Amino acid sequence: MLTRPDRPADPAERVVKTAAEWREVLTSQQYHILRQAGTEPPNGSVYKEFKHQGKGTYHCAGCGALLFSSDHKFDSGCGWPSFYDPANADHVKLRVDRSLGRTRTEVVCAMCDGHLGHVFEGEGFDTPTDLRYCINGGGLIYAPAESGPT
Ligand SMILES: [Zn+2]
Repeated sequence: MLTRPDRPADPAERVVKTAAEWREVLTSQQYHILRQAGTEPPNGSVYKEFKHQGKGTYHCAGCGALLFSSDHKFDSGCGWPSFYDPANADHVKLRVDRSLGRTRTEVVCAMCDGHLGHVFEGEGFDTPTDLRYCINGGGLIYAPAESGPT
């Protein structure tokens, strides 16, 4: 997961790019997740990084939109970064995903349509929402709170 000392700015409007333009601005891992709905391996280096990150915000690696915050992060043990709520619900869009022969709810960046992961509910986690936003850390940018603008 990319870490940026400066907090990315939210895009002023929806971000639309061609596949070629996205390839220019994203790493191959970011492109695979965000633009091809790829899934990073569970319990990988990104997850280990995530577990050790302190307070901060998580932004879309495609467009910079604020998506999640460490305030809503929890350890689900599933192998991917987990949040029980978005930091800015306007930037997080849900849509039905019928791939892999089952129905899941896909989580997408509302500003650039980048694939982030899936959301699951009713799993019994002791969180205020009982939702698990299961997010690919590779599609996020982490901005530590202490170094952000005041
Ligand atoms: Zn985005």
